Amino acid sequence: MLLKSLREEVLDANLELVRRGLVLYTFGNASGIDRAQGLVAIKPSGVPYEDLTPVHIVISDLSGKIVDGNLRASSDLATHLELYKQFPNIGGVAHTHSEYATAWAQAEKPIPCFGTTHADYFHGSVPVTERLSTSEIEGDYEQETGSAIVRTFKRVDPAAIPAVLVAGHAPFCWGKTAAEAAHNAVILEYVARMAYHTLLVNAESQPLTRELHDKHFLRKHGRNAYYGQVKTQ
Ligand SMILES: [Zn+2]
Repeated sequence: MLLKSLREEVLDANLELVRRGLVLYTFGNASGIDRAQGLVAIKPSGVPYEDLTPVHIVISDLSGKIVDGNLRASSDLATHLELYKQFPNIGGVAHTHSEYATAWAQAEKPIPCFGTTHADYFHGSVPVTERLSTSEIEGDYEQETGSAIVRTFKRVDPAAIPAVLVAGHAPFCWGKTAAEAAHNAVILEYVARMAYHTLLVNAESQPLTRELHDKHFLRKHGRNAYYGQVKTQ
């Protein structure tokens, strides 16, 4: 089977979205890429999660041509491919319609950083894309969704904020692997829920100071990170 271990990792990333309560029915999809071969493994379209096995995972090249698998790829494949092409350092993408993150996407409001949980993962507000134009919606809609995400990150490092809210739609998240993308999707939903409740408790709540935000993000990410255990291999 082509890319057996990547298929298994992508399957597990998809199942993680289910285990954490982020998807209903067949909503959502996660993928991973083998950069050396330029091949992407993604969930098939419309297959119930409980029936999925590694053989169902579809393998596509970066142009969208299916190179292995008997099923149709997730209808969001072209969005995933656009992200892999434009964000060369990512290795996985996860998309869900998780409730709170999707509520912020529908409200077209970026999620402010109200606390250190957010700051540990996202170095700034989680941004919202612009709405797609009529021609983008009627054209290559899924690819245009990817392009709208990329435009949102013109001046933002996608490694610093590994998530976006697509206006009127839902979040897309990414990471170094499919597992990390799914993990970030779970954290995003948690952060979105807490931000909502923060504003319910106090509608005048203010984002974290830049100093505290930087402190938390930079102790986990980048050259001077010191959170967790030292890796021995
Ligand atoms: Zn969607």
